[in-house]
Amino acid sequence: MSFIKFIGTAGARFVVSKQLRSSGGVWMSVGETNLYIDPGPGALVRCLNGKPKLEPSALDGILLTHKHLDHSGDVNVMIEAMTEGGLKKRGVLFAPEDALEEDPVVLRYLRNYVEEVVVLKENTEYRIGEIPFSTAQKHRHRVETYGINFKVKPHSLSLISDTKFFPELPDLYRGEILIIHVVRLKPVVDEPIEHLSVEDVKTIVKEVKPKLTILTHFGMTMIRAKPWEVVSELEKELGLKVIAASDGMKLDLERDLKD
Ligand SMILES: [Zn+2]
Repeated sequence: MSFIKFIGTAGARFVVSKQLRSSGGVWMSVGETNLYIDPGPGALVRCLNGKPKLEPSALDGILLTHKHLDHSGDVNVMIEAMTEGGLKKRGVLFAPEDALEEDPVVLRYLRNYVEEVVVLKENTEYRIGEIPFSTAQKHRHRVETYGINFKVKPHSLSLISDTKFFPELPDLYRGEILIIHVVRLKPVVDEPIEHLSVEDVKTIVKEVKPKLTILTHFGMTMIRAKPWEVVSELEKELGLKVIAASDGMKLDLERDLKD
């Protein structure tokens, strides 16, 4: 079965540091291929304690959309778990260059544990097993950040990682399933951290018209506003299916999106 599981749905500093929600990122399984996206703090524990348990030694790859701690906190321990302590050289690590070179978040001694370290660049196609994917242009975020288009079947899936909104953004992510990192309820003018708000989501969803939109990576203002209430308002306004991810939520990628 192909699925994605939201190991954690927390975004930004306060929700992560207080663990108001878990911050583990996303596990994706397509056919026989398992890819972990953004293993934030708690990824390993949440995988092993989950029901059913997800076994990191079954991973074929780990992908960092960027190096910020809420996306990379557990990357080292996940590499160690994927490779069974480095005893089994396996898997591919995908990460932007600045996550590897400048103030790196991936420890150098662990890089030999994986079969390959692939540097993510703009507008480039990649593949890990049964998961072909591509990056779009660099996001507007403080560190090098990419969103991902997964060309999986039967439904294409796009993930918009952290960014400040920019006009080309909706056009870059045309997946039938669209996952958006929504840290803020309301936009903040000249926000230094550069995150998307619910207003930006409206702009994106109106243009892309995905069959299913999933919001995740919530900051404090989203948590206070109750994400499930925010999405029910959005559904009414947009006339499209929008759901709020919750910790542990699993989505069958083969399901009929009309359900
Ligand atoms: Zn983030």
